[in-house]
Amino acid sequence: MKTTLVLLSLLLAWPAAAEWFTEADLDTARELREAALQRDGGFEIVADLTTRIGPRMAGTEADAKAVAWAVETLTDIGFDRVWKEPVTFPTWERGFERVGVTAPVEQRFEALAIGYSPPTPEGGIEAEVVQFADLASLEAASPDEVADRIVFISNRMERARDGSGYGPAVQARSRGAIVAAEMGAVGVIIRSIGTSTNRFAHTGGMRFDVGQRRLPAAAISNPDADQLERLLELGEPVRLHMEIAAQKTEAYTSHNVIAEITGAKYPEKIVALGAHLDSWDVGTGALDDGAGIAIITEAARLILERDERPDRSIHVIYFAAEEVGLWGGRHWAEKHRDNFGNYQLGAESDFGAGQIYEIGARVSDEAWPVIEAIQAELAPLGIELGGRQAFGGPDFIPSLPYGLAVVDLRQDGTNYFDYHHTENDTLDKIDPEDLAQNAAAYAVLAWLAAQSSIDFGSGPGLIDNGQ
Ligand SMILES: [Zn+2]
Repeated sequence: MKTTLVLLSLLLAWPAAAEWFTEADLDTARELREAALQRDGGFEIVADLTTRIGPRMAGTEADAKAVAWAVETLTDIGFDRVWKEPVTFPTWERGFERVGVTAPVEQRFEALAIGYSPPTPEGGIEAEVVQFADLASLEAASPDEVADRIVFISNRMERARDGSGYGPAVQARSRGAIVAAEMGAVGVIIRSIGTSTNRFAHTGGMRFDVGQRRLPAAAISNPDADQLERLLELGEPVRLHMEIAAQKTEAYTSHNVIAEITGAKYPEKIVALGAHLDSWDVGTGALDDGAGIAIITEAARLILERDERPDRSIHVIYFAAEEVGLWGGRHWAEKHRDNFGNYQLGAESDFGAGQIYEIGARVSDEAWPVIEAIQAELAPLGIELGGRQAFGGPDFIPSLPYGLAVVDLRQDGTNYFDYHHTENDTLDKIDPEDLAQNAAAYAVLAWLAAQSSIDFGSGPGLIDNGQ
């Protein structure tokens, strides 16, 4: 009895991390963290990608070049295995877009067609504009308010550290052209789903469903949307001209590119780090998602450079065709879902290069204390413990219904939507010190997840646990 009590009090006093990690593993995590902060977070990787390949829209020649670049880069770094998995998707080509007001004044607007927009007839369309505050107000309108007009959805994205302003505002982009088509409109213009007050329009995809009718649609810059609102307030009819020369082309096959550090003890068990290789066709995709490519690659490289190999394998996944509809992520989920019991976690870096401030995770109840122990090693980087709702990043969303455990390393996105999906997403927006903080966090996470004495609960058991 007495012995049990002594043992129990010893156990309670023992640092929690000792249950999950050896002292040597914790030392390695700390060394990885400090080593990462002495470097530039893989800045030369994103510099090389955005300089030698530049914009790399899924389905273009630059997409194929980026895949070849990825295989070469990952092979040169010295991963144990590098391979490609094919991903087929419908492609879309911008061509050009012209949007401008023709009455009561004449002015050209800074515009970008929305991905999967159909073209207008040659020469464009011209019609009176009708404004709606958001998608819900459009849905509530009567068809005769909308028929034969160009619908303008004017909702404004709110700036927030966690990017939470994006989700509500982006409805206008993803569904506006479909809803307006059903109501008899002829075209759709939206206020850019971004926070920049400069004259940069913000592109992005609309929902793609085979066979669904959509209208030609474009986003105009925030200052142009302000101007259009003021013109409408004058009370006279406002007419707009829009011409979009976009084309949907044939299905294209690109590749997810995967690199592995083979685990020494449990090579079949996998810690999966992700980022997406494709970008929009504007800017050079430096923040979205060249930064993520650099961060996860640098994190894995820090681990590769050590003498000891991790217990579990670590995968670095460059997903294909994220921007045009999560095609790489969807393909990966279908291909690997039957093996999710062997996946320790998925974590994607796809939110620019701002510093990480919080870790959240969707793992089993048993594994949550391991996440807490990992957070203790991330705390010196300024990373706090978040909650148990996590999605792992866009490319792991299709894996959630199959029970993949996921971790979010949440980045400060206060300024991200000033540049995201615009011509202004270029390399100069990345601070190497911020990139290094990110790489440090991913290296610690990947290493400790690979060394943990328990699994994180991936598989069917995690599907309906209410997390
Ligand atoms: Zn992205």
